[in-house]
Amino acid sequence: MARPSGAESLYKMDSPAEEQKVETQEAMLSNTEWNAIEGHVDSTWEPLPTIDSQPINKFLVDNDLHIKGNPCISPDFCLLWATLKVELEAKSCSEVVEGFEHSAFHTGADAEWRLAECKDTGDHVWLLQKDAPEASYAGMQDKVATTGSVCGLEVGLAFPASFNNLLALKNLILCHDDTATIFPTATGTLGTKSLGLGARMTALHYPATEWAMAQLELSMTGNQNSIPRELIYDVNEMLDGKLDQIAFPFIGSNIPEGHQGTSVEGMSHCSVLSKLKNGFHKHHLPWGFNADHQPIGGKYDIREDQLVRGCVLASYITYDISHELEVTPYKLDAADADPTVLAEYVNSNIPAALREEVKQKIVDAGVSTDDAEFNKLLAYVWPAMKKMKLRDAKYKKARSTLFRDEKGIGKKIFREMSIDELPGITAQNTLATILALCECMDMPVQYVAPAFGFQKNCQYDDNEKLEALIQKAWVVCKHFNVSIGFHSGSGKSAKNYEICGKVTESNLEIKTSGRYTYECGRALYTSSDPHDQEFWKQWYEFTVQLALGSAFQDTNAKEQEMARTFIVASVPEVMEKQSEMNDEDDQAKKATLGAALDSLKKQKADEFFKSREECEKLIHSMDPHPDHMLWFEYNFLFVLAKEGKAEKQALGNHTPAGFAQRGQFYGHISDEGQLNFAKNIALYIIFLARTTGQAGSEKCDAAEVKLKGYAKYQDLLDDIKPS
Ligand SMILES: [Zn+2]
Repeated sequence: MARPSGAESLYKMDSPAEEQKVETQEAMLSNTEWNAIEGHVDSTWEPLPTIDSQPINKFLVDNDLHIKGNPCISPDFCLLWATLKVELEAKSCSEVVEGFEHSAFHTGADAEWRLAECKDTGDHVWLLQKDAPEASYAGMQDKVATTGSVCGLEVGLAFPASFNNLLALKNLILCHDDTATIFPTATGTLGTKSLGLGARMTALHYPATEWAMAQLELSMTGNQNSIPRELIYDVNEMLDGKLDQIAFPFIGSNIPEGHQGTSVEGMSHCSVLSKLKNGFHKHHLPWGFNADHQPIGGKYDIREDQLVRGCVLASYITYDISHELEVTPYKLDAADADPTVLAEYVNSNIPAALREEVKQKIVDAGVSTDDAEFNKLLAYVWPAMKKMKLRDAKYKKARSTLFRDEKGIGKKIFREMSIDELPGITAQNTLATILALCECMDMPVQYVAPAFGFQKNCQYDDNEKLEALIQKAWVVCKHFNVSIGFHSGSGKSAKNYEICGKVTESNLEIKTSGRYTYECGRALYTSSDPHDQEFWKQWYEFTVQLALGSAFQDTNAKEQEMARTFIVASVPEVMEKQSEMNDEDDQAKKATLGAALDSLKKQKADEFFKSREECEKLIHSMDPHPDHMLWFEYNFLFVLAKEGKAEKQALGNHTPAGFAQRGQFYGHISDEGQLNFAKNIALYIIFLARTTGQAGSEKCDAAEVKLKGYAKYQDLLDDIKPS
């Protein structure tokens, strides 16, 4: 495919050298005035280099990997424009592509659009009304004249669904109608309450989230994923084999970043197209896109601009400063830190006016802190906060360059400060200091994520303790007018969520992600379709083999221990006792049940770990169930495992073989399997909305009834648009 050309590019095409970038940053950060950072970004800003999608599109087409069966790898949603273009020119467009009936939108009074798709490849194109004025497609690249009528629209021009065109469209749409919600925005109730819906399965996932938002009439963060951990932050780095490694201690191995095989731009693209295909945009209900845990500082300095460019459509950024905190000289949990040294550092590095302002805000919040504590925390976070300021300025600048509607809707973002990565349970003074810093440094946050001791996919055992912890945090957050973000939010009990909702008066966000991979497995498990069943069994067996491999090696003790824990926790008797203990509210009785559970686990461990053969036999004697922890913990690694092999070298494989494995999810699940998956996702969202008090029980009840009535996936899809 030819690189889009002709019209003025939204981005600068050539990239500055990486060394140069690092140097600039160092020079800038030696400046003691934090507010000079933003001014510096503003005055030296050069539009970011566009991502060159030519190599990735060629790679995909050469390997027969098309959007239809393997979406969201390329930033573009049209890989074969060169061919399509010729056809669109020569024939009526209705002979070449099929329009989406509910996708109508405008960029001007006489500029109506449709989204359309080439059914063979899944390549998408934008179709514009005949004789539309030039201003209604300004910035769109690679136009071609075509004729014909698609979904009631007389068409004059067609454009490829390239990422650059998507960016241009966002600007055009919002300049025409700033209430449009085709794209994610930082508007409506999203600034105070939300549910964070991690979109691990992209195209398979969005319709269910759209359905739930529409039925509950509730805005949510309908697109969310961590970059660069889950998503590929740069497809060209991927093609060059230069993605960084991330450690997965429980498999005792590293795998490349981007373990879901999805690029950040491809995912952004898909989430928007899905809204148009299903007619969700006609509700005018805002929805958000959270670039989750955006890493600040540390080893990410040199990739800063790529991270900024990749998530330019995100309406909501979560800042994760833990990477800089790892390399910072003064640690929060250092017992032997010399208070004089810390005071000296703070006094000579942080402007006095800023320090005073922050202190005053802490006092105003009714939180006590002394100088030693204050200096310790400030010395710890100051380098990270300055880097966050720099990144924030870049996010802002990148957006204001691209999106220029009068009210500034296109460039607006919400912010979240993630501090649950800091050591220990978050103290009130830590929370107040961080929130005051964010305000004073002119990057106020809408959400903050303190640490309450949440573990992924585990319920919180002591509800009284949880309530007390959230109360303490909420006093501070309420004062600062900030909502609480609950990270590692999946798998809590209804009671846990009720407490979160009650204490914060529903001013919160629960972040969920891994839950939806689980729901996909559960959908296949309950499907009566033979292929779904076969696929489910393959998936389960993959995790069994990974668990066995780890449980019976002795080079890595931690890996062995974790694998054995997962296996034992999957034994039906253990699961039964575990849930009995979970359901017990009385802490004394809980402790007794816990002790009995521990001895049962020991007994099972003796039975299971005599030999690998014996263990395999015992696992195979159990019904392969998605509630098994052994499947749950390893399941996401199946998506990009080369040839579905349960070998460490095969995991997170960004070659055609890895992507072919990913294609099994997108091209082959039955209608029943897809419907099950959508129902599971929607049910979980309703559960979260209900228990956290974000949606009333009447609406939740009605949605559940409706959901149960669907017999075909299309029935659910048909109910996304307004009736
Ligand atoms: Zn976090």
